[in-house]
Amino acid sequence: VEQEIYEPLNIETAIELSKNLQLFDHDDHLTSEEIGDGNLNLVFRVKNEHSGKSVIIKQALPYAKVVGSSWPLTLDRARIESESLKRTYQLVPKFTPKVYFSNTNLAVTVMDDLSDFTILRKGLIAGNIYPNLAKDIGHFLAHTLFFNSDFGLNQQEKKVQSSRFINPELCKITEDLVFTDPFYDHGTNNIDEDLKPFVSTMLWEDQSLKLEVATLKKAFLTKGETLVHGDLHTGSIFVREEDTVVIDPEFAFYGPMGFDIGAFIANIILNYLSQQVHLRNQFQRQEYQQYLLNIIDESWNAFSEEFTSLWNQYPQDVFMNIDGYLEQTLQEIFKDTIGFAGCKVIRRMIGLAGVEDVECISNQADRNKVKKAALTLGKKLIVERSQIATINELVKVVSEHA
Ligand code: ADP
Ligand code: MG
Ligand code: MG
Ligand code: MG
Repeated sequence: VEQEIYEPLNIETAIELSKNLQLFDHDDHLTSEEIGDGNLNLVFRVKNEHSGKSVIIKQALPYAKVVGSSWPLTLDRARIESESLKRTYQLVPKFTPKVYFSNTNLAVTVMDDLSDFTILRKGLIAGNIYPNLAKDIGHFLAHTLFFNSDFGLNQQEKKVQSSRFINPELCKITEDLVFTDPFYDHGTNNIDEDLKPFVSTMLWEDQSLKLEVATLKKAFLTKGETLVHGDLHTGSIFVREEDTVVIDPEFAFYGPMGFDIGAFIANIILNYLSQQVHLRNQFQRQEYQQYLLNIIDESWNAFSEEFTSLWNQYPQDVFMNIDGYLEQTLQEIFKDTIGFAGCKVIRRMIGLAGVEDVECISNQADRNKVKKAALTLGKKLIVERSQIATINELVKVVSEHA
């Protein structure tokens, strides 16, 4: 690419770029469309309708698309995203789109087109079953979290690697929108008037809850254990009957091990609670909610089993064969996971960005009932995370809320 000065792409220049990159022949007839449904970036699909070959070009905008130019946002997130995708592809190619090209100045990443996949959030709202999802996510998390940490990566290399994933602006979004604003009557919150008294009593006036949130926020700020995805909600996971692929790691940074697992579980929990309304047939609902509880249970078990196996096979630290160290490590990850899941649940109910699972409930009373259940559960996860000792206990707590 000769011209490397940043400019937002449009459907014509997206085609031009893919031809310049020799991803297609110059005389191919290509179509292009902008398909992004995310909050922050442009996403183009460029396709040769004749051969069926296609690629995705994702480009960061210098501001957040959802808010507009009044919310400037660093283009460096495109570099972070492409570097994270490439690193993740080394570790778990099966679960990662292949990057064909990336350019820091243009803030673009060109990758596999996953258009024959479905975004998991949509699939769960539709009540679909994905038999490999939990196992795949557990495997994905075990490998990415282990091999980017001091447990599985040479400890000097890890320091060098972590310096490439300094992501202050996107971390700040999480620090504000997940770990701060929902716990105060803050302007970024988005709360139904009918819910305000409940939220005020439940969250804003509870000093002991805030003390626990402060501890979790501090862990997010300071616990640089491994390269986390940073935004692992069900909108960042593509699924097909048998396959799972994780996209959109622009929030990646060196953070706590439990953050991604907590985000995943939080989003499964929100879908679980929303099914109270979506599936009116009691038998269907119970069956599907049981499937969702199994996802929580199975993904954690797959994660901890695979993490254990990697720990025993590829130890980078001499202490890793000391009795009890693995168990202590997993217990700490688990406790953080539950607390982060609680924060994520709460922020999706009253913060700047909701989740479609709940927001698509058109009846206000039904929607607020789900939100109240979620807020109650989210708070419980935060304040009682030390008492919830096993994944079965977590599942039991969740099941008591819908
Ligand atoms: P954002 O960071 O703005 O949230 P995402 O990476 O989540 O952007 O992508 C937004 C949407 O674009 C996805 O929900 C999906 O519909 C589409 N998309 C993104 N990457 C791909 C891909 N590799 N293949 C097909 N569609 C994609
Ligand atoms: Mg996204
Ligand atoms: Mg997004
Ligand atoms: Mg994103």
